[in-house]
Amino acid sequence: MERKHLDGCLVTNRVDQYYLTGFDGEDGAALVLPHRAYLITDGRFAEEAAIHAPWARAVIRTGPLAEAVGKTVRRHRLGRVGLDPAHTSVSMQATLRKACRPSRLASAPRILEQMRIVKDPSEVAAIVRAAEIAQAAFRTVVRRIRIGMTERELATALLLEMLRRGASDASFPIIVAEGPASSLPHARAGDRKIRAGSAVLIDWGATVDHYRSDLTRVVFVRRIPPRFRRMYQNVLAAQAAGIEAVRPGAAFSQVDAQARGVLRRRGMHKAFSHGLGHGLGLDIHEAPRLARSSEGVLEPGMVVTVEPGVYFPGVGGVRIEDDVLVTDNGCRVLTDLPKELDRMVV
Ligand code: ZN
Ligand code: ZN
Repeated sequence: MERKHLDGCLVTNRVDQYYLTGFDGEDGAALVLPHRAYLITDGRFAEEAAIHAPWARAVIRTGPLAEAVGKTVRRHRLGRVGLDPAHTSVSMQATLRKACRPSRLASAPRILEQMRIVKDPSEVAAIVRAAEIAQAAFRTVVRRIRIGMTERELATALLLEMLRRGASDASFPIIVAEGPASSLPHARAGDRKIRAGSAVLIDWGATVDHYRSDLTRVVFVRRIPPRFRRMYQNVLAAQAAGIEAVRPGAAFSQVDAQARGVLRRRGMHKAFSHGLGHGLGLDIHEAPRLARSSEGVLEPGMVVTVEPGVYFPGVGGVRIEDDVLVTDNGCRVLTDLPKELDRMVV
């Protein structure tokens, strides 16, 4: 706030607000001043606010949110209050601006994003728990794959096993894509049936204590279709190169380039249609992005996915994804499910 000459910061994004205060009620805004913080919410969440953020001053609004924000801002005679435009609708910005007069609302993009990008040890521990639960559930469910099972049945079983182990939810809608459906990077689980010779792409993760994990594996039912063999080996080699490049000081774009280069040398780079990875934490996709156009360098404490993939319409796709923590001198892969081709036959 000091660097951006702000007298206060209004945080309306629920996840940012949780990060700052520990309160994750559906209704709320946090107003952060240099020496105190307000949590503005409604009566339904008064008790929750007192329990989860006892140090923040609760403002229980009875009228519209903007009115309560305006009143608090004016009471402190704040000059400039920062607001992240990425998380506030245009109409809400206009309403807030009016309600805060004569204080001014200033656009202050990405302050929280930059704070959340490096994880502290307790955050890493939560991501590790989320990874362990996702992996344990996968190990159980993969043994139950049967011919005739649908993608949806498999996804449901995986979700149930994660919940039984203590996840509050999946970290995003689980992707189970059989055969040709796997060529859509964001396919959802549908009614396709698993057959002998199916390649099944599974992209899943768990949410534990608000933090998320994100993995992808491709399993082959009974046998490996010949076309998938080369695709798989290429993606696995690209992923190894990507993980190898993860270390402090490495440019985001350079990590992407390392993996992409492997696919280029093997003539498959045109089928790699997305960035190499993304940060994860309280959100499933957060900063940084490991992609060609992404600017910045890795720092210790960042947690990113490394997930190259190749997709051939009508044939299918292969993606392999693990979660990686940047350490002081390299990286630590937080997920360790087998991924050697021969071990993927179920
Ligand atoms: Zn994923
Ligand atoms: Zn991912």
